Amino acid sequence: MDCIFCRIISGDIKSDIIYRDDLLVAFRDINPKAPVHLLIVPRKHIACLADVEDDELPILGHLMAAANRLAREAGIADKGYRLVVNCGPDGGQEVAHLHLHLLGGRQMRGLG
Ligand code: AMP
Repeated sequence: MDCIFCRIISGDIKSDIIYRDDLLVAFRDINPKAPVHLLIVPRKHIACLADVEDDELPILGHLMAAANRLAREAGIADKGYRLVVNCGPDGGQEVAHLHLHLLGGRQMRGLG
């Protein structure tokens, strides 16, 4: 298995996991871009958003709902937060395993 997020999910690589359930794992980004920066990752290896099949759409809803809940638990929901999905080379995706970035705890600016 050469996917780093699959290895985190399996426990092969240590990470700061803060939530897990049957469908997803959430852990702290190793190179945080905001006071709160979590990665919310489906257990199923899906390379990127463009690869999601129709029968996998419920996973997306589950990821979003978890993001909202984790934002509340992290205390950033009231002031607001940002969810980012990078997809493919032009999207700036570095790890080819679908994930949401949950960013908050500071004012976000721009999208570049
Ligand atoms: P992306 O550019 O959307 O593919 O984002 C990949 C993210 O994974 C980056 O923000 C990295 O800092 C993060 N990352 C890479 N390796 C690890 C790791 N071992 N533990 C936690 N986060 C990681």
